[in-house]
Amino acid sequence: MSESDNLEELGREAIARVADAAKSSELDAIDTQYLGRKGALTLQLRKIGSLVPEQRKGFGQAVNDLKEEIQAAIRARREAIAGGETDARLAGEALDVTMPGRFYQIGRPHILAQTLSRIKDIFIRLGYDIVESPEVESYHYNFEALNYPLDHPAIDEQMSFYVTEDRLLRTHTTAYQHRQMEKRKPPIMVCTMGKCYRVEAVDATHGHTFHQVDCFCVDHGITMADLKGTLYQFAVEMFGPDTNVRFRPDFFPFVEPGAEVAVTCSICAGKGCNVCKGSGWLELAGAGMIHPNVLEGAGIDSEEYTGFAFGFGIERMPMVQHGIDDLRLFLDNDLRFLRQL
Ligand SMILES: [Zn+2]
Repeated sequence: MSESDNLEELGREAIARVADAAKSSELDAIDTQYLGRKGALTLQLRKIGSLVPEQRKGFGQAVNDLKEEIQAAIRARREAIAGGETDARLAGEALDVTMPGRFYQIGRPHILAQTLSRIKDIFIRLGYDIVESPEVESYHYNFEALNYPLDHPAIDEQMSFYVTEDRLLRTHTTAYQHRQMEKRKPPIMVCTMGKCYRVEAVDATHGHTFHQVDCFCVDHGITMADLKGTLYQFAVEMFGPDTNVRFRPDFFPFVEPGAEVAVTCSICAGKGCNVCKGSGWLELAGAGMIHPNVLEGAGIDSEEYTGFAFGFGIERMPMVQHGIDDLRLFLDNDLRFLRQL
């Protein structure tokens, strides 16, 4: 076998092994074995000295060509393997974008909080100061200062939650009225809202805990017309532009005259339905001109100043709007109910 046959054989063998290599570490081994300092091709070059001078140049050239050929093959194979290794790694890390994602439940305000917030916005726009008032109230502010007669049934502990002899859970937000009158000088426009408590047997339409909004205004020359205008404006903003307001005489100890206020039924637009029991009206509020006794009790001259006041419960509004027929659902904290609103 001639030297060049030997070289060719070596070349074929090396190229075949490069083609079979599956990992870059195998290529490293082949590289060392053929092209390294003690590699098979390097050893071939050392044979040059033993050749006749005419053969030296051709043989050296052939070895170098083969060396470059093997190097090129290794490079190409290395790139192919690296590509495959990257593909394999990417396949392992692949994201399936069609898989359902993690579901984050986003909270929202309770339906009663949503309603209170809408009401608050309207009264802020009408110029009212929104104030907070204690839920545990004194007998004085809850009843006495509001001109309640001593024999009024609400005063009875059968009707109200007393904490001590003269402290109770407020039975209405109106309890804030006298506190504000003592603190401020007319003109006064204040509004408060929050929880109220009464001793009630709980059923679909009665609860021991409910929410009220209460507003009052005291200034020179305030009349019933101001009260009507204010409630009309509120009704239109709250229930829509076609809403009308109806006033009928009613009695509350802290107003004179007093009125029961109703608004056009928003379900039937006043035509009559089972929600408004065919009347076309829904009761909204108790209202009236602040009783002179109440003003005088807070040191406001009732000859000089007059005022109006009104208050209403808010549970009824979302009940009518969403067709909710049981008051208890509001405070049960059942997410199946709350998530619908
Ligand atoms: Zn109706």
